[in-house]
Amino acid sequence: MAAVKTVSVLGATGSVGRSTADILLSDLKSYDVQAVTACSKAEELAALAVKLKAKSAVVADDRSYPILKAALSGTGIEASAGTEAMLEAAAMPADYTMAAIVGMAGLLPTIKAIEQGKCVAIANKEPLVAAGDLVLQTARHSGATLLPVDSEHNAVFQVFEPDNKAAIERIVLTASGGPFRTWPLDKLHGVTPDQAVAHPNWSMGAKISVDSATMMNKALEIVEAHVLFGLPSEKIDVLIHPQSIVHAMVEYADGSVLAQLGAPDMRIPIAHTLAWPARTRTPGKRLDMTGLSRLDFFPADETRWRALTLARQALKAGSGARIAINAANECAVAAFLAGRLNFTGIVEVTEEMMARADQKTPQSLEEILFMDQTVREQTESYILNTLSRKVC
Ligand code: NAD
Ligand code: MG
Repeated sequence: MAAVKTVSVLGATGSVGRSTADILLSDLKSYDVQAVTACSKAEELAALAVKLKAKSAVVADDRSYPILKAALSGTGIEASAGTEAMLEAAAMPADYTMAAIVGMAGLLPTIKAIEQGKCVAIANKEPLVAAGDLVLQTARHSGATLLPVDSEHNAVFQVFEPDNKAAIERIVLTASGGPFRTWPLDKLHGVTPDQAVAHPNWSMGAKISVDSATMMNKALEIVEAHVLFGLPSEKIDVLIHPQSIVHAMVEYADGSVLAQLGAPDMRIPIAHTLAWPARTRTPGKRLDMTGLSRLDFFPADETRWRALTLARQALKAGSGARIAINAANECAVAAFLAGRLNFTGIVEVTEEMMARADQKTPQSLEEILFMDQTVREQTESYILNTLSRKVC
């Protein structure tokens, strides 16, 4: 019988966090849950902590502490709140930590988890985009194993032959194309937040759903793939694949193409990382090949999906541009969801902020955070002063 695995889940109330909890609950005797964290949904987090028999539950937002404490009273589960508590939770010894916070907010907790030198499953792609070198360097120092959770990157990881890396001609990340794949470009201006978060194949958090609709998600994934697999931009392709069944492919020099297929259900890549290097039975959906009438693949038109071009530019320009693409996009998406920016403005603002960004290579975590903050302030003021009149 396999030993019980100690596990922590950062961002436990989110879409990836809940899918992770689902897998843990399906076989709770095999896991000993240490910490679960969230931003502010204290009641939901407390309920999850109780179900998972976690040792501690942490909310980042101090104001949610009284609710968390009351909800956990008498359970023996420790309740805490605030940034320090969040970092302590991330640093709790755990064989496996799921990094599933959304956005750059996940950088410091993810780094703390990596410093423990165990397995860190990374769903939280933004820190990889904006601080990939630092994340890798921290893993090298601590000896931690980073496991990709993003479905495309998990797929590449499953068919990637590290010993034959020189023979890899290209990897292909697939993209569903999002809800507006077939919309005429001149209609995109009026897209509403409700329309943008309604993804055809995947059920995800609001930010990544909007990113999928603008194709910025795939843009961030190009950078993520570069960081995780050490391949140049020219060897990272994107194909539109509306059915989201083939998640990625690796093409080798001998003409072999290895692909990973699966139902569009994040529990599959999550379960893969939880059991890795073994395999386990999961409650995820199953793929019925006979039920598939067809699998379509189209080239990703970079003139339609400008975000993809921005990712390639960011890879060419270096770390400053990677911080900028991520930070400007996060702010622009928040402004769009709040009704302060129109849909097409998201990529336009991001492009403008990339052009203005400091292109220097940050030498420390502090410098990354400073550059990230600077882009956020510039983006906010640009949206406020330049664009709000046009969009509201
Ligand atoms: P989500 O919005 O559903 O959940 C985010 C989680 O992070 C929540 O638990 C929230 O409480 C927590 N959080 C948010 N802000 C925080 C802060 N400031 N401090 C601490 N915690 C905070 O997001 P999601 O869809 O689960 O995505 C999480 C990450 O995984 C993202 O980076 C996303 O790109 C990536 N990802 C998600 C999917 C998916 O299917 N949802 C697939 C691939 C990759
Ligand atoms: Mg993905």
